[in-house]
Amino acid sequence: METSDRLNYNTFEATAERSKKLEEDLVRNPSKYRVLTGDRPTGRLHIGHLFGSLQNRVRLQELGVQTYIVIADYQVLTDRDAFESIAENILQITMDCMAAGLRPEGGNTFIFPHSHVPELNQLLLPFLTLVTMAELDRNPTVKEEIQAAGQKRINAGMYTYPVHQAADILFCKGNVVPVGKDQLPHLEITRVIARRFNDRFAAKKPVFPEPQPLLSNAPIILGLDGSQKMSKSRNNAIMLSATEEETASLIKKAKTDADRVITYDPAKRPEVSNLLLLISLCTGEPPETIAEKIGDGGSGRLKSILTEALNYFLKPLRQRRRELESDLGYIRKVLRSGIEQAQKAGAETLNEVREAMNMKI
Ligand code: ATP
Ligand code: MG
Repeated sequence: METSDRLNYNTFEATAERSKKLEEDLVRNPSKYRVLTGDRPTGRLHIGHLFGSLQNRVRLQELGVQTYIVIADYQVLTDRDAFESIAENILQITMDCMAAGLRPEGGNTFIFPHSHVPELNQLLLPFLTLVTMAELDRNPTVKEEIQAAGQKRINAGMYTYPVHQAADILFCKGNVVPVGKDQLPHLEITRVIARRFNDRFAAKKPVFPEPQPLLSNAPIILGLDGSQKMSKSRNNAIMLSATEEETASLIKKAKTDADRVITYDPAKRPEVSNLLLLISLCTGEPPETIAEKIGDGGSGRLKSILTEALNYFLKPLRQRRRELESDLGYIRKVLRSGIEQAQKAGAETLNEVREAMNMKI
């Protein structure tokens, strides 16, 4: 695995430029890279996840890039108390990923919950000594998450979120992390930790790569309430596992506006534009063209076109999902083999870490 040089990520433009180059190299040299992505098991995945990240994961997998998908179960407890459904959500998310086209049985994609990989979690201790309280204080992503969760008391798990994320990425020497712009400050801490570890303990033979961000150009899908991003926890989502009837009735209730003439104008008409964008993602037709065709057909027409397009687009995915649902024993087997692979990768890394830190006896 390559240890990336000290790349210039000082400005957003520089990051975007690097990400473009990385994108080109992923196609040419897929075996040089290991992608690390993940989800928290806070619920099933929705169409925002599909268009915003799952499709990209599948694309990378098909390029032949090794892909590790961590289900971050411990991290659920950073901003909520409920833990009753964690195991159930892990199974559901695994099925969502597989239904969308991820193939953990193919030998190049691995799905596992991080609570089952002690080697991964053990990295947290050395990593915590490599960042300062002030650096954690400054992290804007953590600040936003804290605000979003409306927490009065912040647990140390939330505070140190970027450090466990570093363990999630570095335990298997992941060197590519697909991210949205808002996630960049988190990833920067991972890069800092990798660099400091190498400088301090492993100057001659670096242990960790400095993972590179692969900036997503996927759109943010708004929720059916139109006011904020579609999210598992905001009751504004269409789940991948929803039936056609449930999908139709959710779309029927989606917020639109009073103007009968449908136009694509994300800034002024976010709700209507979001529905047009969804049709476009399903059919490949530009949203402006779809809007023109609907003309003064109003939101009724807009919604019925979306219902049909989305249900048609999701049909094969949902069919696969139903097949998977009928054999949970198989899903557990998939997770067990993901865990095994993650433990193996983690044990190798941890061994190098102990050696570098002079802790081998
Ligand atoms: P939670 O409520 O647990 O925060 P969520 O639904 O907000 O769940 P996340 O787990 O925060 O989803 O999102 C994981 C990743 O999925 C994001 O980093 C992003 O790439 C993608 N994603 C999630 N929601 C959307 C969305 N509405 N539009 C586009 N991409 C999305
Ligand atoms: Mg979220």
